Amino acid sequence: MNLLSERIETLAESATIAMSRKSRELREQGHDVISLSLGEPDFHVPPFIKEAAIQAIREDYSHYPPIPGYKDLREAISHKFQRDNGLGYRPEQIVVSTGAKQSIANVVLCTINPGDEVLLPAPYWVTYHEIVKLAGGIPRIIETSIDNDFKVTRKQLENQFTARTRLVIFSSPCNPSGSVFTEDDLEEIAGFLRDHTQVLALSDEIYEHIQFGSQHASLASRPNVYDQVVTINGLSKGFAMTGYRLGYIGAPAWLAEACTKMQGQFTSAASSISQRAALAALKADPEELKEMQQAFHQRRDLVIEALEAIPGIKTNHPQGAFYVFPDISALLGKSAGGRYLESSNDLCLYLLEEARVALVPGEAFGSPDCVRISYASSEDTLKEALQRIKNAVENIAP
Ligand code: PLP
Repeated sequence: MNLLSERIETLAESATIAMSRKSRELREQGHDVISLSLGEPDFHVPPFIKEAAIQAIREDYSHYPPIPGYKDLREAISHKFQRDNGLGYRPEQIVVSTGAKQSIANVVLCTINPGDEVLLPAPYWVTYHEIVKLAGGIPRIIETSIDNDFKVTRKQLENQFTARTRLVIFSSPCNPSGSVFTEDDLEEIAGFLRDHTQVLALSDEIYEHIQFGSQHASLASRPNVYDQVVTINGLSKGFAMTGYRLGYIGAPAWLAEACTKMQGQFTSAASSISQRAALAALKADPEELKEMQQAFHQRRDLVIEALEAIPGIKTNHPQGAFYVFPDISALLGKSAGGRYLESSNDLCLYLLEEARVALVPGEAFGSPDCVRISYASSEDTLKEALQRIKNAVENIAP
């Protein structure tokens, strides 16, 4: 019997989840699998944030919070936007949600009608694509290339524009490429928005605190686009708080109001305990996060150096997040381990079976020439994984 809706039947399973399930199966069979497929920091939540959560329980923060989030938390977020991003969002322009994932779902469901088109520069984060489909929207994928550091240009956006285009979604620092948009890169998108005032942009800045050297730049701070931009952020990545499920938006007031209405019917609000923990996190000096940033920086360098020593792999030099997204197309069309490597998916399966290393195929992000390698693991684990990848790649017939 199948009583499922078409909606759920056509929804793709998260590719990262599919790969981790396969790894788990191999592990259960006794194999030593290293997973470089996950999208979460391998650090613990800083102690002062944990204390705030415990304190909230003691203080009986156990009732339904206001739908868009506690007022003092939204004030702290408003202050954070000003302090870190030069953005003026009043508390009533802020909606706190159960993870940035829900924030994105709220925005898409509130702005996209069936048949509306959404521009997705690839590589894009998998969830954007699926949420757009859930809303009945049509994802229009724009290819970018490793030679341009995976940045979309104004001309490319313009080429895909139609009368039904309503939204552009991108992340900086980017999951999966790790690319960081500079002010000039953002200006490409801003210029496009100014020419099309009925188009909104969703600027996903959840990896803001994981950048190496560059100063974070926010799309909404470019001149004359503020009213067309929704800024997404959250606590999962920068504060290693993935399980707390806390994300938020800064948006034009009309859209924040709509997202509050939407959320009121789905989750009512983000968890009261997580909101109190988030308040402590956001009030803290961003310097508190330096140690984690430095660890990621060091690991990025280690991974790039190791990848550059593997023939057939062309590596990007990402400035943020905790992923590298090398081009592996030179390894395709060849055979290894009795398997013909037609796609990056085949290569990832080969590496999982042969090297016992789990990566995520680029197909999941709309970039089939690449694979995503997450370096949210210890240096020793990364060294071992990269050595295994090197050995397995060397066994691919020339
Ligand atoms: N945006 C991007 C680009 C992400 O990579 C992720 C998590 O992987 C999210 C949003 C969602 O984060 P959250 O844990 O806050 O739902």
